[in-house]
Amino acid sequence: MSKRDYYEVLGVARDAADAEIKSAYRKQALKHHPDRNPGSKEAEEKFKEAAEAYAVLADEDKRRLYDRFGHAGLGSGAVDPNVFTGFEDILGGLGDIFGFGDVFSGGRQRRGPQRGADLRYDLEISFEESAAGAETSIQIPRQEPCEICEGTGAASGSKPSTCTQCQGRGQLRYQQGFFTVARTCGQCRGSGSVVSNPCTACRGAGRVQKERKLTVRIPAGIATGQRLRLSREGEAGPGGGPAGDLYVVIHVQDHPFFQREGNDLFCEIPLNYPTLALGGEIRIPTLEGDEPFTVPEGTQSGTTFNLRGRGMPDVSGRGRGNLMVSVKVSTPKKLTKDQKKLLQQLGASLPKEKFEPTPVGEQDDKGLFDRVKDIFG
Ligand SMILES: [Zn+2]
Ligand SMILES: [Zn+2]
Repeated sequence: MSKRDYYEVLGVARDAADAEIKSAYRKQALKHHPDRNPGSKEAEEKFKEAAEAYAVLADEDKRRLYDRFGHAGLGSGAVDPNVFTGFEDILGGLGDIFGFGDVFSGGRQRRGPQRGADLRYDLEISFEESAAGAETSIQIPRQEPCEICEGTGAASGSKPSTCTQCQGRGQLRYQQGFFTVARTCGQCRGSGSVVSNPCTACRGAGRVQKERKLTVRIPAGIATGQRLRLSREGEAGPGGGPAGDLYVVIHVQDHPFFQREGNDLFCEIPLNYPTLALGGEIRIPTLEGDEPFTVPEGTQSGTTFNLRGRGMPDVSGRGRGNLMVSVKVSTPKKLTKDQKKLLQQLGASLPKEKFEPTPVGEQDDKGLFDRVKDIFG
């Protein structure tokens, strides 16, 4: 069976903003919610379809993959409406009222293994690492399932018993007019079971604090503020619930002279007047190291050479930005007698200076827009 386009499912444009997607999903979810369409298989399917579409389009990384490769880009199992996050976000308190767990577990009561918390780790990397990509290991403190009791929280030889308050459902349900109201059970905190003889290692929590070493692969081209999601590497869920995700937020150190804007890199090189006037061989810095470069005769101070495709790699693998190298005249502060004499001779041979102000960037006869020279190759 072929899948419908996610944008079509939610009825939004391909460039829809996050808020639009959220609101479109909310509408669909309310319209097709099984509590409003009792016994309708079609409504249930539509409800799930909308949830799946939202799970992808509300997630920056997944949406980008979907935009590029369609459903194939997400792979199998990439979207599991049972576990996706953001659901609570979007419906807020409504999630509770509707008892969504039921819908996603095929009508069975949800026994509340709660999902563990997401974690954030701030990772500083060098400019070179962001340009070339890197693999690094990080150490994170997090809650992991207790090995002694295998996450149950019960001492060895004993078992957690079914919660008497909710009969193991994890939820208490009421009929309230049109809706079924479900609330998390207070006695077992949604787990459905109670530990009467707690494990000593974790004091019945089923989880223990650990330091975990993880390897993080940083894609080339990553910029400050971008984050990597390590699925299921967050905190373990209480009562044996699934782990949350770990978000690694990237901070890239400044480079001594390259400045990044988008995927373009900028730097400035001071040159002597004779080199600019006569032209000459210089060396320019690139991400791959210094390279020879020919400055053409009569180059104005402030000219920018655009080396196409020599900037930062795009983080999603779509080519590279440009390298913009500006040259500016460097005026010597100290001169020997001979040098002064030569300059005086040169000055005397040039046309007399005229006091003629020009707009910024138009000192030469060509103007600002001619001063970016495209260099292919
Ligand atoms: Zn334990
Ligand atoms: Zn209970």
